[in-house]
Amino acid sequence: MNFEENEQQKLLRETTIAFVRRHCPSASVRAWDRAGELPEEVYAAMAEAGLLAMMVPAAYGGIGSPIADCAVVLEEIARPSVDFATRLALIGWGSMILGDFASEEIKSEVLPKVVRGEIKLSFSLTEPGSGSDAASLQTRARRDGDDYVISGQKLYSSGAHAPKNMIVLAARTNPDAEKHAGISLFLVPNDLPGITINRLDVVGRRILGLCEVFFDEVRIPHRMLIGEENAGWKYITRHLERERIMLAANYLGNARAAVEDAIRYAGERKQFGKPIGKFQAIAHILADMATDLEAGRWMTASTAWRYDQGLPCVQQACMAKLFVSEMLIRVTTLGMQVLGGAAYTYDHDMQRYWRDARNATIGGGTSQIQRGLIARELGL
Ligand SMILES: Cc1cc2nc3c(=O)[nH]c(=O)nc-3n(C[C@H](O)[C@H](O)[C@H](O)COP(=O)(O)OP(=O)(O)OC[C@H]3O[C@@H](n4cnc5c(N)ncnc54)[C@H](O)[C@@H]3O)c2cc1C
Repeated sequence: MNFEENEQQKLLRETTIAFVRRHCPSASVRAWDRAGELPEEVYAAMAEAGLLAMMVPAAYGGIGSPIADCAVVLEEIARPSVDFATRLALIGWGSMILGDFASEEIKSEVLPKVVRGEIKLSFSLTEPGSGSDAASLQTRARRDGDDYVISGQKLYSSGAHAPKNMIVLAARTNPDAEKHAGISLFLVPNDLPGITINRLDVVGRRILGLCEVFFDEVRIPHRMLIGEENAGWKYITRHLERERIMLAANYLGNARAAVEDAIRYAGERKQFGKPIGKFQAIAHILADMATDLEAGRWMTASTAWRYDQGLPCVQQACMAKLFVSEMLIRVTTLGMQVLGGAAYTYDHDMQRYWRDARNATIGGGTSQIQRGLIARELGL
C-alpha cells in the first residue's frame, strides 16, 4: 500500500497553493465572509486554472481526475476558506451524477459549460421536514404533457442562489411508492419563473451561502429529468463514498489552516517574557492538534487511495468523514484557546475557521448517521 503523494499530486498541490496566493488573499477572504459572497472573478479564475474540470468526465471536456488528486486540490483550496472547496465539490457531485445518468443531450450541453465556468451546479435534497431522513422528502414533480411541474420547498441548499446556477433537485414523482422508490432527480436552472431563493442568515459558511428554495408550479421540460423516473435515490447513493472522501479533504484543509495559524501565533505572541508556545500547556495543545491533523490526513489519503484502487471503502469513507469532521471541530476549538482574545476578533481568521467548522458534523450526513452506517458495516 502506497498513498504517499506522487509527482502529479505534488504538482497539483503547488499549483493550487499558487492559485490561493494569487486569488484568495486573507484580507479579501475576510471581506467576502463579512459580505457573504463568493466573487464571480474567483469562480472564473477557478475555471481558467482548470480546477472545475477535475471532476468532470473527460468525454465532456473535463479531466475526470482520480479522487486522490481531487483530495489534494480540495485540501489546499479549503485552507483560505472551506467554501471554495465546497463550491468545487458541488461541481464534482453534480457532474458525476450528470456524467453517469443524464441523457447524452444534457451531458453534451451542460458539462462543457461547467468546465468553462459558464454554469454552476448545486444540490437540493434537504427539506424542512426531511434532513437525516432525506428520502422522506415531499417536494413534488408531476408530469404534465411534455413537462414536469414542481412544487415544494428545499432548505440548506449551499450556493443555490449563485448566478448561472443549475440545481440538481430531488423531487417525488411517485407519491404512492415506498419512500426511496418514488424519487427522481432533475436539473433545474435557478432563475425559472416560480422559483424563489432566500439566503439564510447563518453562523458560518457565509462565503458560499446557504439558501431556502421555494418551487411554486415551476415548469421544466421532460428532458431535464436526470436518468429514469423514480430512480433518483439510486443515483444519489451511487457516489456517496466519493462525496465523503471529498468532504474529508475539505475539512482537512480547514483544519490545517487552524493548526498552522495557531502554531504561528504561539511562536509570535509573548507573555511573561517569552512566546506562549514555550509554555508546556500551550505546546501540548499544539502537539495534540498536530497529531489529530496527521491522523485525519492519513485517513483521508488512505481512503482516497482505496477508492482509486477500486477496493471497497464504504466503511472507510464514513470513518474518514466522521473522524475528520470531529477532528476539525476539536482543532478549531483549541485554536480559539491558543489565540486568546485575538481569536474572538474579526482581525484573525481563527473565528471563521471555528464558525465554518461547526457545520462539519452536521452537513453531508451527521456524525450520528455516519456512526450508524459504520455500525451497519460492522454487522451490528
Ligand atoms: C452548512 C450546511 C450546508 C448544507 N448544504 C446542503 C446542500 O447543499 N444540499 C442539501 O440538500 N442539504 C444541505 N445541508 C443539509 C444537511 O445535509 C442536513 O442539515 C443534515 O443532513 C441533517 O439534517 P437536519 O439538519 O434536518 O437535522 P436532523 O435530521 O433533524 O437531525 C437533528 C439531530 O438528530 C440526529 N438524528 C437524526 N436522525 C437520527 C438517527 N436515525 N439516529 C441518530 N441520530 C439521529 C442528527 O444526527 C442530529 O444530531 C446543509 C447543511 C448545512 C448546515
